Parts: sequence; C-alpha cells; structure tokens
Amino acid sequence: MTQFRVGIGHDIHRLGASRPLILGGVGVPSDSGLHGHSDADVVLHAVCDALLGAAGMGDIGELFPDSDPQWKNMPSRIFVREVLGRIRLNGWRVENVDVMVHAERPKLGPRKQEMRAAIAQLLEIDAECVGVKAGTNEGQDAVGRGEAIACSAVALLRREAGGAIS
Ligand code: MG
Repeated sequence: MTQFRVGIGHDIHRLGASRPLILGGVGVPSDSGLHGHSDADVVLHAVCDALLGAAGMGDIGELFPDSDPQWKNMPSRIFVREVLGRIRLNGWRVENVDVMVHAERPKLGPRKQEMRAAIAQLLEIDAECVGVKAGTNEGQDAVGRGEAIACSAVALLRREAGGAIS
C-alpha cells in the first residue's frame, strides 16, 4: 500500500544584512541580504519545514536551533540534505514540492528557474516536481515595504508499505 503525506512550511527573515542574498540555494543580486543565524535562506527553511511536517518529524528549529553556534552562517542546503536523509530513513520519498516566495524586492522572476533547478537537485527529484512562484505583497506589511522576505512551501511525500528502513 502506498502512503501519501502532505506538509506545510512557512518562514520570514528580515532584509538589510550586509551579506549575500541566498534564496533556494541560489545567489540573487541584491543590495542587501537576509538577517539570520544560518545563511538565512528563507526558501530552503520553508522547504525543510514542509518536508519535516509531512513526515511528522518536527521542525527546523528543533533540528538546527539558532542558539547552536555550529549552524552560524551555515549554508541551508546542508539542512535540506540532513532533513532529506532523515525522512528517507523513515521510508519517505519526495513526490513534489511547491514554493511561493513573497518579496517586494529584488524582483525574482529572472531567478525562478534557477531556484527550481537548485531545489530539485538538492532533493534529487526532477525539476518538473518542483514549483517556484514569486509575488509581491502589494506594498502591504513588512514584506511589502521591502523589509523582509517570506516563503511558503508545501511538500508531498510517498512511502511504500514496508519502505521504512529504521
Ligand atoms: Mg528561517
């Protein structure tokens, strides 16, 4: 019997840091980056939480607490790979991931396909199994004022009966 589980993730980080802007594992030209303990990749953080949520395995804050110095400035692709390894140990495979980035600036349209390819490569799935959309917040709230970037993500996992390794 095949099991399916869906999970949701959401994250927001403040813009204005003197560091590169990394979204979905991709460097995006910007006059500032995101504040955060790791590389602050809000897209990959949302993806991690969607995967963990679908597998019923907690959240990114439990696995990689920002109080732990070992995660300081850590590339978030490391988190994705760790999460992927953990859910695989429980027999889960990633069916698809869909991402919605909320950003007033910079404009992300030119980078969407690059993010899609990067996320697919990290998750070892086809690019057609990854959706990356981007939108503004119409000038409303912190995202709309260009003070923050947020991301929502959903993930669908599949497990075959007897698929758990642990
Ligand atoms: Mg985060």
